[in-house]
Amino acid sequence: MRIAVASGKGGTGKTLVATSLAISLAEQKKPVQLLDCDVEEPNAHIFLKNKPNAEETVFLPIPQVDYGLCQYCGKCAEVCQFNAIALMKRTLVIFPDVCHSCGGCWHLCPADALKPVAREVGTVEMGQSDPIKLVSGRLKLGTHISPPVVKAVREKEDPASIIIIDGPPGSSCPVMTAVAGTDYCILVTEPTPFGLNDLVLAVEMLRVLGVPCGVVINRDVPGQDIIDRYCEMQGLPVLMRIPLQTQIARAYAKGIPLVESDPTWRAKFLELYQRVAGEVVS
Ligand code: SF4
Ligand code: SF4
Repeated sequence: MRIAVASGKGGTGKTLVATSLAISLAEQKKPVQLLDCDVEEPNAHIFLKNKPNAEETVFLPIPQVDYGLCQYCGKCAEVCQFNAIALMKRTLVIFPDVCHSCGGCWHLCPADALKPVAREVGTVEMGQSDPIKLVSGRLKLGTHISPPVVKAVREKEDPASIIIIDGPPGSSCPVMTAVAGTDYCILVTEPTPFGLNDLVLAVEMLRVLGVPCGVVINRDVPGQDIIDRYCEMQGLPVLMRIPLQTQIARAYAKGIPLVESDPTWRAKFLELYQRVAGEVVS
């Protein structure tokens, strides 16, 4: 089973849910793999006290021009949908940061003047925080295109394990890469108008991808039912509520998983898993 944990925005408690779910399942002797796809700010390793024992570099091909062959026709700049190439008089400028490595330019160059060269965009770190297998992606500093790093993390999926994916925040390409093809997505949100706004976007994205989802309300406050009302209207299950409590926030800030700072949460996270498994089967 592949369960993604996502949120419409950062700082809502995604990693809190993903790590506590992984720890609770591992304590039941279930094989668990946690994929940290929040590649701009991976921090699951802090909660799992994991030190990586292997690392792989993620490369992307970007075009390099051979000025001896270039005829300055401008076809490469015309074909690039991302404005990653510009022809300025007799100079061809390539902007690697916005190149999506689609290959259009080097395939269409009539003079065969463009060749793909490898550019480092990030790393994938593997480790074992016994018994949880952890794979973390890390986007290289100064690089902006994260989906290839997310994809590289997902390529490490172990089908023999329950796979929990800690996704990037938002509802754009990196998140779609992290959640596409999963069996279920747990959306973590908070009961505020901002939380609702981002939740709506995330739900719409998941519907496009055909991934079923349910909601965990973090920093829940009795009487604030803005999320409950939306979930009821949309027929979405509210899977769990984590109250707004200082001790939970303090433990999180110290890198202590919720199920370790308060072991009574273990049963609740196992219930969360059972609920998700039930939703997947139905
Ligand atoms: S398409 Fe090829 S020949 Fe034309 S400007 Fe680009 S690199 Fe030069
Ligand atoms: S590989 Fe694609 S995105 Fe990159 S410069 Fe060429 S056409 Fe543009």
